Order: sequence, then structure tokens, then C-alpha cells
Amino acid sequence: MTYIVAEPCVDIKDGACIDVCPVDCIYGLDDADERIVWISPDECIDCAACEPVCPVTAIFAEEDTPDQYKDWIQPHYDYFNDK
Ligand code: SF4
Repeated sequence: MTYIVAEPCVDIKDGACIDVCPVDCIYGLDDADERIVWISPDECIDCAACEPVCPVTAIFAEEDTPDQYKDWIQPHYDYFNDK
């Protein structure tokens, strides 16, 4: 399992999640080409620290992602597979 970032983050990219992530596995904050930040599924340790600090409730445990945001799961895997 991993945590994922969904649509509410688009063009917000607050970055509070990055400040609390103990393993620095959230990427894209400083990349102007990216409209959200991405959590690395391979590096995330499922600690849940990022979820409550997101000001726009954009972060979910993969398995608890609401139906309207499920399309945001696969792009996390694709983002890091393409690197
Ligand atoms: Fe980082 Fe923990 Fe959030 Fe995973 S669940 S992205 S390890 S803060």
C-alpha cells in the first residue's frame, strides 16, 4: 500500500506534507511542470503523517481513496516508473 495525492492538490501544492514526511518520498513541489505533488509508492512507509496536515484533504491511503479520486492512484506509479 501507499498514500496518494488526489485532485484537491492541483495548483495548490501546499507542501505541508513534505515537511512532515519522515522519508522524504513526496516529489514535485519545485517542478513547475507538475500541478500536484507525487508520493513514491516504493518509498512511502505508510506512516500517515502527511494525511492530516494537508490543508485541502488531498491525501488518502491508497485503499481508502474515495471513488471520485481513484483515477489518481495509477499516475503515482506511472510518474515514478517513467523516471
Ligand atoms: Fe511520507 Fe508517511 Fe505520507 Fe508515506 S504516509 S508519503 S511516508 S508522510
